[in-house]
Order: sequence, then C-alpha cells, then structure tokens
Amino acid sequence: MQNQMELTFSALAQNEAFARVAVAAFAVQMNPTLPEMADIKTAVSEAVTNAIVHGYRGRETGLVHMRARYDERRTLEVSIMDEGCGIEDIETAMQPFYSTGDGAERSGMGFCVMQTFMDAVEVQSEVGRGTTVTMRKMISGEAGLRRERMLDEIG
Ligand code: ATP
Ligand code: MG
Repeated sequence: MQNQMELTFSALAQNEAFARVAVAAFAVQMNPTLPEMADIKTAVSEAVTNAIVHGYRGRETGLVHMRARYDERRTLEVSIMDEGCGIEDIETAMQPFYSTGDGAERSGMGFCVMQTFMDAVEVQSEVGRGTTVTMRKMISGEAGLRRERMLDEIG
C-alpha cells in the first residue's frame, strides 16, 4: 500500500508546531514506537525552522511545503521545501556548529540533529531558488506487533 500527503503553510514560527503535529498524525499510521515518533517530529521541526529562519530569513512572506509518504517497504520519507534564498555551499552548511544565524539563538546543530534522528538526509538547494531537505526513516512497526503478542499472552 502507498500513502502520501502534502501540506503547504506560511513561513511563520508558530507553524513549526503545526508541522510537527501534522507529520506525527501521518506517521502514526506506520505504527512507530514513541522514540521513533519523537525522532521524526524533532527532525521535521529542525528542517521547518531552517526554512522559516534561514530560507526566508524570518521575512514571513513565503510558503513552506511538506510532503510525506511511505509504502510497504515501511520507509517514511519526508520532504521540506522552501522557495527562499537557497544555500551556497551545502557541505559547509551541514558541518556541525556551522551557522549563519544569530549566534545566541542558533547553534549550527540542526542538520546534525536531522542526521542523527533519521536514517538518511539529502539536501538540494539553488541560490535564489530555494532548498529541499528530504529525510528517510525506516519504521519497523514492531510496536503494534509487540502489543498484539502481549494481548495474546494476557488473553
Ligand atoms: P540550529 O539549527 O542549531 O538552531 P542553524 O539553523 O544555524 O542552528 P543548521 O540547522 O545546521 O544550523 O543549519 C546550518 C546553516 O545552513 C544555517 O545557519 C544556514 O546558513 C543554512 N541553512 C539551513 N537550512 C537552510 C534553508 N532552508 N535555506 C537557507 N539556508 C539554510
Ligand atoms: Mg537550524
């Protein structure tokens, strides 16, 4: 079975929470464990925050697009796209502690967080055109199996 969703929302800081909840509501169908769900929400938050803060430089005029899908291979794929300023040097931008943001608020760890919590992170970007971050995570669905086995044993 294939399943997908697509959402577009304004590049406003408060929509970071919206994006987290929306991706969780979609991913829950894959029967993830609570830690898996937390990882997905955190990684999506980082990518959405980057689109808002860096892509549109907090200008609040742009749109952020989120796409998510999975199929029977049980890999969740989430893409976060912006049509903002783009990234000149992706490799440098992805280095730990590298940040062009406000030093007090930004630690330069967003991409590291995404890479730690997801199985794969790909970044495509063009200066003046925007950035797309695509992340994948395998969800075994074991949480549900365990629950069923537990119910069997009890019953
Ligand atoms: P933190 O995420 O720890 O608050 P940060 O956002 O600066 O700090 P990363 O998320 O790792 O750190 O991003 C590193 C840098 O990559 C950013 O400072 C910015 O220069 C660039 N960047 C990331 N995402 C985008 C984007 N969507 N558009 C333009 N530049 C981006
Ligand atoms: Mg960041």
